[in-house]
Amino acid sequence: MRLLWLLLLPGLLHGQFDVLITHGRIVDGTGNPWFYGDVGIRGDSIAAIGKLDGATARETLDARGKVVAPGFIDIHSHGRRGIFDVPTAENYLREGVTTFIEGPDGSSPIPLAPFFAKLSATPISVNVASFVGHGAIRTEVMGLVNRKSTPQELEKMKDIARQAMLDGAVGLSTGLFYVPGNYADTEEVIEIAKVVGALGGFHESHMRDETDHILDSVRETIRIGEEGGLPTQVTHHKVIGKANWGQSVATLKLVEEARARGVDVTIDQYPYTASSTGIAALFPQWSQAGGRTALIERLDAPASRDKIRNEIIGNIREGRGGGDPKNIVIVSCPFDAALAGKSLADLTMARGVAVTIESAADTAIALQRKGACSAVYHAIGEEDIGRIMRSPYTMIASDGDIPLFGKAAPHPRSYGTFARVLGVYVRERHVLTLEEAVRKMSGMPAARLKFGDRGILRPGMKADVVVFDAATVADKSTFDQPHQYSVGFEDVLVNGKLVVKAGKVTAERPGRVLYGPGKK
Ligand SMILES: [Zn+2]
Repeated sequence: MRLLWLLLLPGLLHGQFDVLITHGRIVDGTGNPWFYGDVGIRGDSIAAIGKLDGATARETLDARGKVVAPGFIDIHSHGRRGIFDVPTAENYLREGVTTFIEGPDGSSPIPLAPFFAKLSATPISVNVASFVGHGAIRTEVMGLVNRKSTPQELEKMKDIARQAMLDGAVGLSTGLFYVPGNYADTEEVIEIAKVVGALGGFHESHMRDETDHILDSVRETIRIGEEGGLPTQVTHHKVIGKANWGQSVATLKLVEEARARGVDVTIDQYPYTASSTGIAALFPQWSQAGGRTALIERLDAPASRDKIRNEIIGNIREGRGGGDPKNIVIVSCPFDAALAGKSLADLTMARGVAVTIESAADTAIALQRKGACSAVYHAIGEEDIGRIMRSPYTMIASDGDIPLFGKAAPHPRSYGTFARVLGVYVRERHVLTLEEAVRKMSGMPAARLKFGDRGILRPGMKADVVVFDAATVADKSTFDQPHQYSVGFEDVLVNGKLVVKAGKVTAERPGRVLYGPGKK
């Protein structure tokens, strides 16, 4: 019986495919130069690549003049809520993303198993994987207290991390900038990282500081990898605040030196001059200890209020605010949908006071008292973006999510990151070659994630494939008009199924949960 199959197999290989993509320029995700070829897909996998003249298929896509590449992998995503509201993840499909990795910045569901089970039971269009978040683990064990962990607490955190790796996390994310990650010392993170590293995971860090202490933060990220015995990654690498622009020369040097002495450190990045996070990011971390009620108590006490206000003023002047309240624009506020798209300057003016950095700090305090607003912060230099992008150690990641189309005023990175790199940084500015850009979106993150069967176009690999027009691919989403899909992606396949066909999202939902190397 087996022999019969072996005899039949070569015939099958040349004959019938489920999908055949013909005459494309194949950019295979390794960084190799493009070459002409056909891609034959059978079931969920790539069966053949080459000159497949005479082959037949249930579906043939003519990719003449187009690029055929591996589906993109977004290694830093906040799509875990959105995927249940928008199971097509259309913003992602239309920029070529076929897999996203959740649980970044120290935040993830705990435990992970129910989240994976819920995802598996939901028909979705893209693949999903997840980190386990250090901040979530710490909250589970200690709440939001501002102190070192005890040895007993640390043991509990390690147990949770170990279980998450066995459940299939890809690694450990930290958000040492955020509460409660900020309350942890480096040693705590290293001890948890050791557990994750032993099970094959890596560490990705939203660093403690991305402004004037950025070099210390990069050193800390490297140290976690070096002493934790696992690969480590500076996530959404950027330099915030005009006074700090240019520091990427030094941060990249630290990364190179670390690699030279044997530390496996890499970077990811999104291609925009603005960041996006909670309004709370303007507040000192000490003021957020104990959570919301405790913060409001501190704002009610004049002495601590003045201290908080002064630190917010400093952050608007030199840090995330880019020196001008106009640079801080509301994404959404849970208590008032009408605030979306308004700047801190607009909202200060609306209070009937002259706009200064000081009065804008008062506006931020007033907002934070009412609820957890999020905002876009314009304070990143273009030169740093190009320099970081050119580093051979940098991959592309959106840090975006899956927005409800038309709702709120989200950062355009959710809709445009991958198309923007291809349109602006490859075609217009020649910062990267097409092959390098594709590698940074596919082969490189796949290697980081130890996804041995994705990220590269080769026979035997899972058929996550994108077909796009390199001459027209472009991001359309802007800060003013964010709800616009990217253009240029004609066909997108996930696990061999067409989720976008001739530019239209189909009814297929072939997305899967992808598990990390420790999965039992
Ligand atoms: Zn982050």
